[in-house]
Amino acid sequence: MYESAVQNLIDELGRLPGVGPKSAQRIAFYILNAESSEMANLTDAIARVKKTVSFCEICGNVSETKLCAICRDEQRDPAVLCVVEESKDVVAVERTRSFTGRYHVLGGSINPMAGIGPEQLRIRELVARLSDERITELILAMDPNLEGEATATYLSRLLVPIGIRVSRLASGLPVGGDLEYADEITLGRALEGRRIISEGTRAEAADPAEDFEAALEAETEAKEQQAAAEQAAKGPRARWSGSMFDDLDSEDAATPSPTDGQDGGELRDAYEAKLEELKKTPLRTVAPEIPPIPGKTYVNPWT
Ligand code: ZN
Repeated sequence: MYESAVQNLIDELGRLPGVGPKSAQRIAFYILNAESSEMANLTDAIARVKKTVSFCEICGNVSETKLCAICRDEQRDPAVLCVVEESKDVVAVERTRSFTGRYHVLGGSINPMAGIGPEQLRIRELVARLSDERITELILAMDPNLEGEATATYLSRLLVPIGIRVSRLASGLPVGGDLEYADEITLGRALEGRRIISEGTRAEAADPAEDFEAALEAETEAKEQQAAAEQAAKGPRARWSGSMFDDLDSEDAATPSPTDGQDGGELRDAYEAKLEELKKTPLRTVAPEIPPIPGKTYVNPWT
C-alpha cells in the first residue's frame, strides 16, 4: 500500500483506542506533512510520560511521584473511598467538586470475554487498604455498562461481609433529557434509586387490601367483645329462661351456670328451692285480649 515507514505509522496509530483505519491514515498524513519541531514536541511528550509518569502506590491513580496529589492531600477525607475503573474516572468525579474523599483505581473492569478477571484488577490492593480503620464507606463508581455492573456486583459481594458501608452511584436520567426517550433499563434504575423527598404519614396504610382485612378483624373482635359483655351483664344462661322466672336469672347474675363448675350442686339446690317458692305464689298470666264469653265461668288451674 504505502512505503513501509508510512504503513508502519498507520498500523501503530490504528492500535490506539478509538482510532479506526481511516482516522489512522488521516493522522499519519498529518504527521507526514507537519513541521518537524511540532512532531518533536509530540514524541517528547510521549517519551516523558512513559519515563516519568507511573501509578500512585496507594490508589493506583496516575502520578509523577510515588503518591498522587490526592493521596498526599491531608485535607481529603480518609473515611470515604470512591472506587473507579480508570484514572480518567477520577478526573470526572473531581470535576463535580462534590467529593472530598479519596480514590481507588482498579485499572479496568471485570470482562471475561477479554480475559480480565478480578485478579487482573487492583482488588487485592483495595482489600489491603480496608485494614485502615478510618475507612468507613466505599462508593462504587463503575461505568453503567455490563462490565461495570459485573465489577460492582463482585465488589459488593466481597466487601459487604467486611462490615463496611458500601454504596453505588445512583444511575438515572440525564439532566435536560426527556422521560419518554429514556430506555427501560435507565428508567428502571432511576426508579430503583429514587430519592425520598418526604416519608409522609400515610405509609402505614399503604396497602388497601391489608386495611380491609384489618378493619374486618377489628369489627369481628368488637362484635365478640360486645357479645361477651352482654352475656356477662345477663349472667350465665340458665336452663330456666323465660319471662316467668326473670327474677331468678338476675339474682345470680355473676355466678356460673348451675350445670358447670364445682358449685353446680349447691346452685342447683338453690334453683330448686326458688322454684318451689315460685310455685306457691300465684301465676302471673297475661290478661286475655278477647272478652270472656257471657255465661261461661273461667277457672285458673293454679289457684
Ligand atoms: Zn493516590
